[in-house]
Parts: sequence; structure tokens; C-alpha cells
Amino acid sequence: MPADWLTPVRAALDAKERPIEIFFRDDDAGWDDSRLFELLDCFQACEVPIDLAMIPQATTEKLVEALLARWQTKPAMLGLHQHGFSHDNHEVQGRKCEFGESRSGDRQYQDLHTGKLQLEQWLGPVLDGIFTPPWNRCSQATADSLVKLGFQALSRNRCAALLNTGTLREIPVAIDWCGIRVKSAQPWLALGQAITDVLQQEHPDPLGIMLHHAVMDSDDLDRLQALLRLFREHPNVHCRLMREFLRPAHVVDTAACAVAFDSQVVPLPAYGLTSDQPIH
Ligand SMILES: [Zn+2]
Repeated sequence: MPADWLTPVRAALDAKERPIEIFFRDDDAGWDDSRLFELLDCFQACEVPIDLAMIPQATTEKLVEALLARWQTKPAMLGLHQHGFSHDNHEVQGRKCEFGESRSGDRQYQDLHTGKLQLEQWLGPVLDGIFTPPWNRCSQATADSLVKLGFQALSRNRCAALLNTGTLREIPVAIDWCGIRVKSAQPWLALGQAITDVLQQEHPDPLGIMLHHAVMDSDDLDRLQALLRLFREHPNVHCRLMREFLRPAHVVDTAACAVAFDSQVVPLPAYGLTSDQPIH
């Protein structure tokens, strides 16, 4: 019988002096709808909210109808926001990026605007004013365009390059579920330890966990369900939607990362979120 990968997670939660806020961001809605709905069923069964990052160019009317039906049943359990435009890589060398340095500000603005209009046309006020860039990467021109377009928040990984984000909030993720799973010899123990490490840090609030339904199998969903049940039942966990962090009372702590970048010391780790993971 292998060690229970959730044992250290449970111990870290037990030891916390105050509850932690946790959110789940699933990327690439528009790809593989059947796996997406398996994931949504898993969250629904555990009564844990989930945010979906939707690719405008990959989103279909059929998908929108199905998501709106779920949203109308339980709006407090589902968040929907924009994930890139087409999810294409525009860089000719280096790390993959749809909104990178080699993409002009004008083109970035056009892509962001067109994608926003497409999703707004389908989702109206259901669409949250949050933007997740593909591969968690974007440039200063992206942040500037997002501000002009009225977005409220940007979600990248926890220690992405520092940008002048103006009025944009940052809602970063700290854990890349699939990235850790594909890179580790003992993936579940590694994932449990990564979550534990974040929980044990002094300023982990809120803890963002990134998922990619299109590359998650039934084993992933079984493990995820166990984690969701633990989070659902533990008194020191409050599961949130990302839009809840847009309320004035919530200020996402990115100061620690800013200090780390300014002084060139080792930044806070973003587990599984290293250079060129094959997934998005
Ligand atoms: Zn993606």
C-alpha cells in the first residue's frame, strides 16, 4: 500500500492558525469538451467551485450553452474568463507565448479585444473580467492592453516576470497539477508535497491550483476528487472563485515576489511551473 499522498497536506492544514483561501483554475476550455465535463462533474460532486479559462477561438456555441446551463443552476460554483485568443504560439524561438515580446502592442490589443467581444457576445455579464495568458506568459504590452480594455485581473504563475499592471489585480497560480504529474517519478507524493510546501509558507494566500482537463485521465480525477473532498471538509480551507478576489477586501499578496525580483534572491517557487512544459 503506497503512502497516502494527502497525509502531509492534511497535516499542514491542521497546523494552520487561520483558514486559507484556495481556488482552482482549469485552462483550455474549448478543447476536449468531454474531458472538461468530466472535470466539472468531479467538482460538482464535491461541491467545490471552479474557474474555467476559455479560449475564444476554440469556444463553440454548444459549449457555451452547456456551460451557461451549469452556471444558471449554481452561479456561485463556476467562473468563466478569457484564456488568450487562439492559443497559438507567435514566438519563432524561445519559450512558447501567444502574447510575447515579438507580438506588437497593436496586434495584442486586437487579439485581446476580438476575443473579449466574442466571449461577451455569448456570455454577457457571466464573463468575469479576468485574463489568463496561454503558458502563463505575457508582456508589458499585454498588461497595458488589458487595462485599456477594462479587465480587472491577470492570472499567471506565482513568480512570473514582474509587470507594471496598473489597476489590474494579479491572481496567480502556485501549483501546476499536470506539470508536476508528468515530471515526477512519484507524481502523487510530489504533488502532495508541493501543495504542502505552499501551505506551510508564511503568506500563501490564496493558493491557486492550475489544471488542464484535456490531459487529465481517470487517475487524475480520482486523485483530484480525494483532494477536493479534503478541502471541502477541512475547517481551515475556504474554496473560492477567482472573481471573489476582486472584491475590495481581497488583496492578493504579490509583494513577496516583488521583493524577490528586486533583490535578485531566489523567488518563491511555483511548483511544476518551470520553463517549457509541454502543456499549456
Ligand atoms: Zn492554455
